[in-house]
Amino acid sequence: MSIETEKLILIIEDEADLSKLLEFHLQHHGYETLVVHDGMAGLNEAIQRAPDLIILDLMLPKIHGLEVCRLLRNSPAMRHVPILILSELHTTATKIRGLDMGADDYMTKPFEFAELISRVNALLRRQRCEAGAQWN
Ligand code: CA
Repeated sequence: MSIETEKLILIIEDEADLSKLLEFHLQHHGYETLVVHDGMAGLNEAIQRAPDLIILDLMLPKIHGLEVCRLLRNSPAMRHVPILILSELHTTATKIRGLDMGADDYMTKPFEFAELISRVNALLRRQRCEAGAQWN
C-alpha cells in the first residue's frame, strides 16, 4: 500500500444544493473536487484540469449532458476519463443513450451517497487497471 495522489473529480451539476452535497461526500472520502454548473464550463474545465473522473448531470444549461459526454469522448485527451451520469432522467431509453454516448455508469436521482461513492471508487479502480498503473 502507498499514499496515492488525490484524485480530482469534476462535478458538472447545476443544482447548487446537490453539488455542495456531492463535494462534501467526495471530499470526506479523500477526493479533490471541482464544481461547475453548466455544460460549457464543464467541457472547459475538463480540458484544462484533466480530472480523474467526471460526474455529469444531463439537464444542464448551455450544453446538454449527453452532448458534453459525446464531445468528451471525441477529445483525445478526455477519451478515457471515467464518466458517471447522474440524472433525474430514469427511462431505459435515456440510460441507453447515455451509455451509448460513452458514459461508464449511470445513476438516477434520488440516490444514496454511499452507493455513489462506491461506484466512483469502482470506476477509478477499473481505470487504474486498464491504464496498467502500478502500486508504488
Ligand atoms: Ca440538472
